[in-house]
Amino acid sequence: MTTPIDNVRNWIAGAHRVVALTGAGISTDSGIPDFRGPQGLWTKNPLAEKMSDIRYYVSDPEVRKLSWQNRLASPAWTARPNNGHLALAALEKCGKLHALITQNIDGLHQRAGIPAEVHGTLHQAMCLSCGWRDDMQIVLARVRAGEHDPECTECGGILKSDTISFGQALVPEVIDRAIQVAQECDVLLAVGSTLQVYPVAGAVPLAKQAGAKLVILNAQPTQFDDIADAVLNTSIGEALPFLCGT
Ligand SMILES: [Zn+2]
Repeated sequence: MTTPIDNVRNWIAGAHRVVALTGAGISTDSGIPDFRGPQGLWTKNPLAEKMSDIRYYVSDPEVRKLSWQNRLASPAWTARPNNGHLALAALEKCGKLHALITQNIDGLHQRAGIPAEVHGTLHQAMCLSCGWRDDMQIVLARVRAGEHDPECTECGGILKSDTISFGQALVPEVIDRAIQVAQECDVLLAVGSTLQVYPVAGAVPLAKQAGAKLVILNAQPTQFDDIADAVLNTSIGEALPFLCGT
């Protein structure tokens, strides 16, 4: 008898175009906490949710000061891709991965060799006023040297990480691309995401309508479990290498 996980492995083995959607759950094995899980950043520290909201960030210097301290201490600087990231990278290498859409800003997919940026990257800093961008480490060095809320050296504007915060719009081309690839795939593999945030949340039903097999691999239930062809609530780090045949 084949189990659901065997079925999914067969679907991926037979697929020409797999689209992967990933969320924070894929990076927890790399030591990066998620947001809403039991050990999540927002569960343990409600102020952290404020730091992710552009309105508080712009209006409150204290929120920015805390944000810079958090960035300094981020586990992302030393984290390494785990077996989940590597499995998707292997899928990309063999030509099956049509696209990877990620909500993560930790840069771990990129470190594993896949270009993927929807919500931006923590590894780059940007100015909210003039659009200046540079390596985050350059700004963090200023924080380490005693600047609590470093200003843009070009225009004096507010700096933050080059990531999409709540209250900020995603780049329209990125949304269009996500919607397009979702409609072109034979398997949509949603990994480690509660699928609540757009464009990811919008791409899921579109892929299903266009005929793709919908596979959800996540510790917690999602709003799309009912329409999924397979729901796997198992360990991502163990399941993904098996599913990708690596
Ligand atoms: Zn500036």
